[in-house]
Amino acid sequence: MEFRDLKKQYRVLQSEIDSAILEVVTGSNFISGRQVSELEAQLASYVGVKHCITCANGTDALSLAMMAWGIGPGDAVFVPDFTFFSSGEVVSFAGATPIFVDVEEDTFNMSASSLEAAVKLVMEEGALTPKAVVPVDLFGLPANYGAILPIVEKYGLKVLEDGAQGFGGSMKLGAEQRRACSFGDISTTSFFPAKPLGCYGDGGAVFTEDDELASLLFSLRVHGKGEYKYDNIRIGMNSRLDTLQAAVLQVKLKAFAEHELTDVNQVAERYTDLLRDYVKCPRVPEGFGSSWAQYSILLGDRQERDGLQAYLKEQGIPSMVYYPIPMHAQKAFEGLDCVKMDLSVTASICGRILSLPMHPYLEAEEQDKVVNAVREYLQKK
Ligand SMILES: *Cc1c(COP(=O)(O)O)cnc(C)c1O
Repeated sequence: MEFRDLKKQYRVLQSEIDSAILEVVTGSNFISGRQVSELEAQLASYVGVKHCITCANGTDALSLAMMAWGIGPGDAVFVPDFTFFSSGEVVSFAGATPIFVDVEEDTFNMSASSLEAAVKLVMEEGALTPKAVVPVDLFGLPANYGAILPIVEKYGLKVLEDGAQGFGGSMKLGAEQRRACSFGDISTTSFFPAKPLGCYGDGGAVFTEDDELASLLFSLRVHGKGEYKYDNIRIGMNSRLDTLQAAVLQVKLKAFAEHELTDVNQVAERYTDLLRDYVKCPRVPEGFGSSWAQYSILLGDRQERDGLQAYLKEQGIPSMVYYPIPMHAQKAFEGLDCVKMDLSVTASICGRILSLPMHPYLEAEEQDKVVNAVREYLQKK
């Protein structure tokens, strides 16, 4: 059994993917081919945002946003303590200081009250200027923007939505049901193969409504270009999505919108129906939709989690611990003055969480095998 079965997805989409790839190879327009700008228009339209700027990966997408805003030394950027390393890495990479805030146990996403406490603390101390918040749409579920955006507004901060795992997720904001990657002043995603919408290598994208930011991001993506490629008006990056990846993504976006998002939600519902009497299943709050980058259960304690993972492994069932270490405890952030915040929810989750095999092509028999193994282990205990 595969944790995320990309081989099965390829078998289903093979003829379309093969011809899309062959078309790029035949045309040999490997950089900035027609498929790249076509894909950008398709992604912007799917998300419901004016501009999409594709780039080399999800980490660069976050860095491009930092550069566009000129965030650097002396600036504080608020990041959940429970996320993939990139969300905080890009802040330090820009020379700014990440301030880690706690998450909610039932959604795994940034806690608005912890965010506000952190902003107040930074303001009281006075050493750093609060600049931006990076809410992460973890495991496919958008962060609680209904609670986060008023705080952001109150303190005049910018929102950088890290939608690397959130693409396809949605939530009701005001009267509107809006898609992930539309909640930030700038939003980003990743097309790493295992993400909800993945390509065949590395890829990423930046989204914004703002025309000026969009043209700045287009420039920063290609060596800070001005009128043309050899007119360089600022320091930028080389961070393009190549044409082959764009061609693969065009096929995959179509499948994602037509059936994969629906299928993966059916898989999630079935997991929850079969497991909820045995273990704490992930919750999708009222008004939210998830794209299920992961299906993560919470065990009672570390011993039970590690025991279950070992038991599943014995039965040939892959599982993953996302994430074993809180951000503030990563060695790379050693010396950062960040542990004054109460980060106890993250610490507890890191010891108890386990992600099960999850993807739109997971079959009922495979799922039954996972469910039975989880039940057996918990009943034996
Ligand atoms: C995967 C991921 C990233 C980085 O994306 P890459 O394309 O691997 O650089 C950033 N943030 C989160 C939350 C992620 O899961």
